[in-house]
Amino acid sequence: MKHIRNFCIIAHIDHGKSTLADRLLDFTGTVTEREKKEQLLDSMDLERERGITIKSHAIQMEYTYKGEEYILNLIDTPGHVDFSYEVSRSIAACEGALLIVDAAQSIQAQTISNLYLALENDLEIIPVLNKVDLPSANPEEVTDDIVDLLGCDPEEVIHASGKTGFGVENILAAIIERVPAPKGNPDEPLQALIFDSVYNPFRGVETYFRVLNGTIKKGQNIKFIATGKNYFADEIGTLKLKQFPRQEIKAGDVGYVITGIKEAKEVKVGDTLTDAKNPTTNIIEGFEDVKPMVFAGIYPVDTEDYEELRNSMEKLQLNDASLVFAPESSAALGFGFRCGFLGMLHMEIIQERLEREFDMTVITTVPNVSYHAFTRKYPDVPVIVNNPTDLPDPSGLDRVEEPFIKATIITKSDFVGNVMSLCIEKRGMVLNQTYLTTERVEMTFDMPLAEIVFDFYDRLKTVSKGYASFDYHPIGMKTSKLVRVDILLNAQPVDALSALIHADNAHTIGKKMCEKLKELIPRQQFDIPIQAAIGAKIISRETIKALRKDVTAKCYGGDISRKRKLLEKQKKGKKRMRQVGNVEIPQEAFMAVLKLN
Ligand code: GDP
Ligand code: MG
Repeated sequence: MKHIRNFCIIAHIDHGKSTLADRLLDFTGTVTEREKKEQLLDSMDLERERGITIKSHAIQMEYTYKGEEYILNLIDTPGHVDFSYEVSRSIAACEGALLIVDAAQSIQAQTISNLYLALENDLEIIPVLNKVDLPSANPEEVTDDIVDLLGCDPEEVIHASGKTGFGVENILAAIIERVPAPKGNPDEPLQALIFDSVYNPFRGVETYFRVLNGTIKKGQNIKFIATGKNYFADEIGTLKLKQFPRQEIKAGDVGYVITGIKEAKEVKVGDTLTDAKNPTTNIIEGFEDVKPMVFAGIYPVDTEDYEELRNSMEKLQLNDASLVFAPESSAALGFGFRCGFLGMLHMEIIQERLEREFDMTVITTVPNVSYHAFTRKYPDVPVIVNNPTDLPDPSGLDRVEEPFIKATIITKSDFVGNVMSLCIEKRGMVLNQTYLTTERVEMTFDMPLAEIVFDFYDRLKTVSKGYASFDYHPIGMKTSKLVRVDILLNAQPVDALSALIHADNAHTIGKKMCEKLKELIPRQQFDIPIQAAIGAKIISRETIKALRKDVTAKCYGGDISRKRKLLEKQKKGKKRMRQVGNVEIPQEAFMAVLKLN
């Protein structure tokens, strides 16, 4: 055990975590030339394309240092706030963390939030100043920033480049010298932390664990404490790029187990694995059931595809336990599903996977957070509102609570004013403002989660010219003055366009929604009135004027291929249109409320 090191890499997004992980794998010879691909750990196509790590993974390296052989378990963590619970579990499986900081960007919001998670778990922090090869790198200043943040010596900061491989040997030496060897007793009852699971359509769910105490053996009858279920460990092993089956894995080490479980939701990240016959009395702390934060309706474009959509969603859920869904019906869209996601990125990923892997064309409705409504009749019993149309009638409503977050933003001092105005506009309350250096400021706010769903990122980017990083975590429910704004097209309410909005902003937002929908909904053969309403009261109105000429008329006599192109373009655009009454609504219109300026 004294020759094992368990570590993770934490960083703000794009600071070079995946690239540096690749260099570590190269240097230790874990990856053969043939297996080499860019950013090896990001194995899902989607991850590779988006340049993000969605699911965390573990990989084992062997490395000889000062004549002794070591096993280094690198536990990869996802880089997006939607998956922060998984980050916290991966961190809990380690004794040390490489804290990567981009030498040009310095410390950013996720650097800090991940660092706090690592410190809460008593991890040894090894600061790495990455991308020192960049001409824009600022090694002295950024080293000072790191020293200020950690209270460490400048000599402890390792200079490195994931691009050139500079510094990689020093990083490996630091992992061995500075990260403590795991503790734990291989003879005690089994106690292992599940930090990840991966769905394999052929073999079932692969569960990744870190053994804290005891030993897991092939064939052992093991128990998942959260679900209370027992399974046989059909196969256990360690992970390199491939799986290496083993007979046993002892306290201190990391591995996988395959038990024949067929559904991802049977395996819960953060749960404790133990021996069924001789269970541990030590349950690993911090287990949480992951809760969806954002909800939206998903409907088939073609109403006939409902059953097929259900099948596809069920299959997706097999390998993504954080996706939840329940059937719902909409007066406007017919039968579909109300789905819960970890965040907006997760929602986009699900929509994209439905289209790519299942060839479904779907309409996603306006996303919303989960509200608690209290009626006068039962003022202590919350009605969970995951769809604005489920809000109880205002006449009997006592109050509505919405989820709040604590947000951290790091920006340049020049943009403090802009960021502050944006946060206040988004119903945020400034809690704190700290100058990290004379140029860089950290601000913390309380803010409704719903405002993050509504185009916060884009706005933040704009007002800070890209020089702001952002991170948040939920802090609970608070009462807010919310009203439901409904949209009527051609005098018909379109329930899928309803949203809960703060009463003070309802008029402005209702007006902007009408304007935006007017832009997005194509003109048709008749006038289409668009109205926003609160209850029976119309608060805004626009009209889409009837189309007078054939759209192809302007190409008439012109280039025939241009005309064909235009028709094809229309056909393609049609795919993502939904007929509601006699109005055709494009997908963008359902998201319009998210992009109001
Ligand atoms: P992650 O989001 O932290 O995993 O970051 P990536 O490893 O995906 O890197 C983000 C970007 O920075 C990519 O375009 C990399 O090619 C680039 N990058 C990573 N490390 C270095 C480095 O040391 N030097 C330079 N010049 N670019 C780097
Ligand atoms: Mg990455």
